[in-house]
Amino acid sequence: MPHTHKLNCVRRTVCVVMAVLILVFCAAFLQRRQASKTVYTKELFAMDTFFALRAYGPQAEEALAACEGRVEELESLLSVTREGSDIRRINQGERFGVSKDTFSVITSALELSEETEGALDITLYPVLREWGFTTGEYRIPQAEELQALLEKVDYRAVSLGGGLSDRVDGDLEDGVLTISVPEGMELDLGAVAKGYTGDCLLALLRERGVTSAMLDLGGNVQVLGEKPDGSAWRVAVRDPFGGGSLGVLEIRDKAVITSGNYERYFVGEDGNIYWHILDPSDGYPADSGLAAVTVIGEHGVQCDGLSTALFVMGKEAAVDYWRRHRDFEMLLVTEDAHLYITEGLTECFTCSEGWNAEIIRGN
Ligand code: ADP
Ligand code: MG
Repeated sequence: MPHTHKLNCVRRTVCVVMAVLILVFCAAFLQRRQASKTVYTKELFAMDTFFALRAYGPQAEEALAACEGRVEELESLLSVTREGSDIRRINQGERFGVSKDTFSVITSALELSEETEGALDITLYPVLREWGFTTGEYRIPQAEELQALLEKVDYRAVSLGGGLSDRVDGDLEDGVLTISVPEGMELDLGAVAKGYTGDCLLALLRERGVTSAMLDLGGNVQVLGEKPDGSAWRVAVRDPFGGGSLGVLEIRDKAVITSGNYERYFVGEDGNIYWHILDPSDGYPADSGLAAVTVIGEHGVQCDGLSTALFVMGKEAAVDYWRRHRDFEMLLVTEDAHLYITEGLTECFTCSEGWNAEIIRGN
């Protein structure tokens, strides 16, 4: 019947059109999925170490190029050795409006100094220099020399000036706020600069639409989101006594930052080992019984500052600090090779063979 024939024809056409549409949708979907899995990487030498940046998705390539510029900008502001940096100018006693990055990283560091009762102290630079940690020309200073230099070490003497009300209102501005130190005092942001840089790079990646990235800033790891396949990022924690790892952390949107006595050290003429994390109370390498501290949390600058401070404080004080704060997790390794993890890590940390983690619980 001609009528039925016409109906069949229409049906067939509809079917073909639908099949084509489904194919087009599938192809577009697969292409998008593929694009979100495209990985871009960038390696840089900056802040005296290697940075390896990895980001996924169509926006990642341009975003990583922007990250390179941002690292260069931050280094030129925060480096203690670079001529013309904000830190250098503050240390030379110049009065000027600092950049908002400088202001922001210094205020975060000072808050942490306050909370850790000076275990973190960004005014240690003259002491670090005496040990040669800034130049590589190592020497063991005399106790009297250290005592004299410690007179100039005190984070409470750093003054923040001008436009403080702007800070309360939220947005900082470049060149408005001042930071100064008394004569002879010098700042060094070695303990927090990489963590702050990681925070800035993640913010930049987010702004540019990247949702999945892993940044390794000289051993500090900061991750954005999760892996493109939807699983957590896996970050190995280095064994401070050898080349292997203590275990693996599975994390999303976190910073994993370690301070250890194996990272930078020298063997003195007396045969002893001296490392680059100093105890601000006596100017000697912090000898608190810890070999390494790893801090896991939301903010790189906090984790970086804390890893240094908790290393100085030692196990008992670090556990006490964690119980009072609870806004981060940590992993401690003692010199006698005991491993401790805070209870928030029980689900996401897996020990390597030969290691066993004792769990630190909140009270
Ligand atoms: P790394 O830079 O090796 O990852 P840290 O984040 O622990 O390790 O920073 C160590 C650096 O911080 C040292 O090289 C030095 O510049 C500085 N520093 C050392 N001891 C202290 C301290 N007690 N407070 C603040 N800064 C410190
Ligand atoms: Mg640190």
